[in-house]
Amino acid sequence: MWKRLTTRCINQGVVNPSEVFKEALGLFPGGVNSPVRAMKHLPMPIIVKRAEGAYLYTIDGGRLIDYCMGFGPLILGHRHPAVLEAVREALNDGWLYGALTEREVELAKKITSSIKSIEMIRLVNTGTEAVMNAVRLARGFTGRKYIVKFEGNYHGAFDYVLVKAGSGAATWGVPTSAGILEEATKYTLVVPYNDTEALERVFREYGGEIALLLVEPIAGNYGLIIPDQGFIKATRELTERYGALLLFDEVITGFRVGLSGAQGMFNIKPDLTTLGKIIGGGFPIGAFGGRRDVMGMVTPQGPVYNAGTFNAHPISVAAGLATLRVIEGGGVYEVANGAAERVAKAIEDSASRNGFDIVVKQVASMFQFYFKRGDVRTPSDVRASDEKLYLAFHREALNRGVYFTPSQYEVNFTSAAHTRDIVDETIRVIEESFKALRANKPT
Ligand SMILES: *Cc1c(COP(=O)(O)O)cnc(C)c1O
Repeated sequence: MWKRLTTRCINQGVVNPSEVFKEALGLFPGGVNSPVRAMKHLPMPIIVKRAEGAYLYTIDGGRLIDYCMGFGPLILGHRHPAVLEAVREALNDGWLYGALTEREVELAKKITSSIKSIEMIRLVNTGTEAVMNAVRLARGFTGRKYIVKFEGNYHGAFDYVLVKAGSGAATWGVPTSAGILEEATKYTLVVPYNDTEALERVFREYGGEIALLLVEPIAGNYGLIIPDQGFIKATRELTERYGALLLFDEVITGFRVGLSGAQGMFNIKPDLTTLGKIIGGGFPIGAFGGRRDVMGMVTPQGPVYNAGTFNAHPISVAAGLATLRVIEGGGVYEVANGAAERVAKAIEDSASRNGFDIVVKQVASMFQFYFKRGDVRTPSDVRASDEKLYLAFHREALNRGVYFTPSQYEVNFTSAAHTRDIVDETIRVIEESFKALRANKPT
């Protein structure tokens, strides 16, 4: 009887996805509300109804093992009970006060005690806002105009940094967006990622006029690019030498690659750090923080303006706090990193068994793979890989119930919910997908 009931419920819930997408196409540009959700290689994007653990459930009754995980925030998996409980409790108290709360103090204490370079912090709503304010702050603090960013790094969707950017901008071939004034990017200098000599040249030429160097210390928005040690060291040395500020954009890597982020991994102390994603536990958040003397310039303590109706939103703060507590409780990184390692290895092995050249990159619970020979060290290496094969493989795996990130310019994430069994199932799908790809190579 239960079986019949459940079956009926599921059937009643099934919706024709093409109808929904047709409506969406008329309502939203490209049918979606953020570019990478569109999935240009599929007749239509996946349309989700709900999620649990490592699984996404689509509106047509499908179940997918998720390696996208909301593009990064969900390190505990979907709908983690501790986060759910914390959000329910916070909701019960109310959801917006426009005033200081105890929980945001708690969250800030956790962040500043884990990431030592952050002495003071401001909580905002998105990673984009965090970086935007950090740029303003750096210019306000130094009195200089220029900022330096790296090709293929993504720092959010605002004018000063949407130049040769990664993520959706790369996926859709508009690394430098239309509609941005030449005047707005006149003071944005762009250097190839992982190119220490080019960085030195720019500092030699503009050094005294550079306010801020922005870097993704592990690049997670152009696939996954792992920097050379010398390159990361140079970001600190050059900024120090020329009196510029150094911003580590750890919106992805913060609490992903460890409690102290990529800066802890590389043992480098930036002046400013931006965070987002994980610290909101799946709810909207962003943060910028760093040196006390620099952060002291932010309003109302100083003259660099930042404000927001929803800054430090109580629900985001509660979800983020619960997430960091679970991480501190232990076991999260072990499971998530172990899963990423096994999946990465399986992709490498299956690809070579089936005759594909592949490069697999993995750090902690992030990984990405590229259909190419040689190595991937720079954005141009990523561009030189076979995107058609990536998307064809993506489709094969998706048809078999595994949802990898839908663009080779994004990164795959694992979580504490990616258990051994789920990874075993993924590995089977990987092998079948490569076999199918070999039989059915796209031209
Ligand atoms: C996601 C991301 C951002 C932008 O964050 P949003 O919350 O999407 O605005 C900025 N920088 C990096 C490194 C990111 O990965």
